[in-house]
Parts: sequence; structure tokens; C-alpha cells
Amino acid sequence: MIDWQLYLALVIAIGLGFFLGARYGRQEDKKSAGQFIDENYFKGLNLLLNEQPDEAIETFIAALEVNSETLETHLALGKLLRKQGEVDRAIRIHQNLLARPGLTLGHVQQAQYELATDFVKSGLFDRAEALLVELVDKSGPYRVNGLERLLEIYRDEKEWGKGLGVLQQLSGSKLSRAYDEWAPIRAHFCCELSEEAILEGNYRDARQYIKQALSFDRDSIRVGLLLGRLEIEQSNYSKGIAQLQNLAVQNDEYLGEIIPLLSEAYAQSASTREYRNFLTRINSTCKHESVLLALSELIASDDGELAAAEYVAQEVIAHPSGIGLHKLLDYYLHFSEGKTKKYLVSLQEVMNGVIADNVHYRCKHCGFKAQTLYWLCPSCKKWGGFRVNQ
Ligand SMILES: [Zn+2]
Repeated sequence: MIDWQLYLALVIAIGLGFFLGARYGRQEDKKSAGQFIDENYFKGLNLLLNEQPDEAIETFIAALEVNSETLETHLALGKLLRKQGEVDRAIRIHQNLLARPGLTLGHVQQAQYELATDFVKSGLFDRAEALLVELVDKSGPYRVNGLERLLEIYRDEKEWGKGLGVLQQLSGSKLSRAYDEWAPIRAHFCCELSEEAILEGNYRDARQYIKQALSFDRDSIRVGLLLGRLEIEQSNYSKGIAQLQNLAVQNDEYLGEIIPLLSEAYAQSASTREYRNFLTRINSTCKHESVLLALSELIASDDGELAAAEYVAQEVIAHPSGIGLHKLLDYYLHFSEGKTKKYLVSLQEVMNGVIADNVHYRCKHCGFKAQTLYWLCPSCKKWGGFRVNQ
């Protein structure tokens, strides 16, 4: 027998018994107990005692007649079933509720909201969207909850434009979070649209979305990076370099994202001396693996691999790092042969494993760790929470 099914059936049985008992108590003058308590309740109890929880749940559901007194019980039962993964049953309960005439607006909205949540859980996003659009169209106690659920659907379905429309409504609602709390999320939605436009080569739209994102969050590192990327895509290398250099000075935490773009821009502009000076300046105030790698490559190309190996060795001794040691082994392999080379190859294999396990980022909200930067945490679904893992 599956334990949770038995548990669920027991909870329903107790809840239903309590409800029916309370109702009977109030009405005992009018009817006798045998007449009043639904025979389905006893049938359900019997099935439960015979270790048939699946059938018992069905029978208990049938025992609950929808009326103003049992409505909250139905809603609680629907939620419980969904939580236990019994989404089809939860859908049936909520659809059954909505089919009843005479519900208050608040209860209709609550049932719509719960049903939409069931649909989301079942992956029926179209049906959930249709229900929520209808729900948020009217004012009422569940409008804000409905808008937030709708936003989750558009986020998961990558419908960024529709999501922005919902965010606008949420930002203007007095019952929702403060305007300032929605603004950074609106900026992320604009960035998503801008990234899509860049991929399509539609740079005019991409720039418009960046402007819009800046109007919501002037200090967003993501918008800054995106602007740098757009300048490079449009071959505006000096503009891109200026943008990314500013970003690097102000946000050394994100050098891992900035340096590769900057290297790309400098590679096109052919002013490697200027780039080397910039990296040396950054390196004097902040130690970062991306700067170490970019500088070593410039030194190797200007002064040869031996000079680059000497530079990396000095840095690794002063500031030990897995990536630095791996790079150093790379250079040493070029200058070694025979048994020494064989040992170095084994050592590098070990280092490959160490580097592969490196965690670069961690979500400040839920602690999710990743090697790459996510703007939307895959675990807790919050925006902009990734920080460098210290
Ligand atoms: Zn998270």
C-alpha cells in the first residue's frame, strides 16, 4: 500500500467526519443521524479499513455535497490533493465547484485561481492562461494572485512581451508588491526580449528594449553587459570597449562575464597594448581568474610562452588558484619532454577534474550552486540572485 494515499484518505475521513458530525449536531432536532450522515462516508470508511485508499478518496469526495457550508472544505481538499500529486482529482473538485450556481464572486475567483494552479501543475498552460486572463480582467480579491500566477506562466513559456503587460498591471496595483520591487524584474523581461532581438539580428529593437530596461533598472549589470554585447554585434568596438571597461571597474564581481566580451572587442580593434595596460591595472586591485587568463594570453602573444609561464607562476604563488595552476601546467607541458611530460600530463588530468567541479556562482535566495551565471535561478525562480561563490 502507498503510505501517503492512506494518509490522505485518513485526513479526508477525519475532516469529513468532523464536518458531518458538526452539521449533524446543529441539526439533530430536525433529522436523525442515520438519515443525515451521507452513506458514502461509511462506504469510504469501509474501503479505508479494507486498505483501498484510492477508492476511499473517490467515495469521500462523492460524500461532500457542494453548498455554502462545505465550500471551504472542498477548496481545502482540492489543495491537499494537488499537493499530493493527485492533480486530476483536484481539477475535478474545482470544476465541480465552478459548475455550481450561487457562489459569491470571491469564491468563484478562488476556485478559478485554484483550477488554474491545477492546470499549471499538469502542464496545461493554455487552459490555465485562459482561466487567469478571465480572472484578472475583473477586480476582486484574487486579481493580484491571478496576475502573479499568469506572470509565472509567461516566464516559464518565455512569453516576455505578455509578461511585461502583466508586470505593468502588477506595478500599478496597490494590493501588489511595491513598484520598486517589480522594476528589476521588468528590466529582466526587457533584457530577454533584447537578447532574442540580437539573435534575430534585429539590433534596432534590441537597443529599444535595452533603453526600456534601463528605465526600470539603471544599475543592472545584465543591461550593462547586454549593451556591451550589442555594440560588439554592431561592430561599434570602441563604444563596446568603453562600456565594458566602465562595467569592469564598477563590478569586479562579474569580471568572469565582462572579460570574455572585452577580449572579443579588443581582438577586433587591434589595440592589444591598451588592453594589456587595462588588464594590468585591474589585476593590481582585484585578483580574478578571467583577468589572469586574458593577460597570460596577451603576454604569450607579445613576449612568448616562456614570459607568459613566468607571469602565471608568479601570480599562482602569490594568489593560488585552480585555473591558474591549470594554465601553468599547460605552459610547462610545452617545454617538457619524456618522463617529466608524462607526470605533468597526469597532474593536468587531476586538475581538469578539479576545475570541472568549480562552483562559480550561488543563488543568494536559495543557495543553488552553478558553474555559469543564471539571471533566473533554475531552483527558486527568483531573478538576479546569483552572486560569485566565495
Ligand atoms: Zn535560487
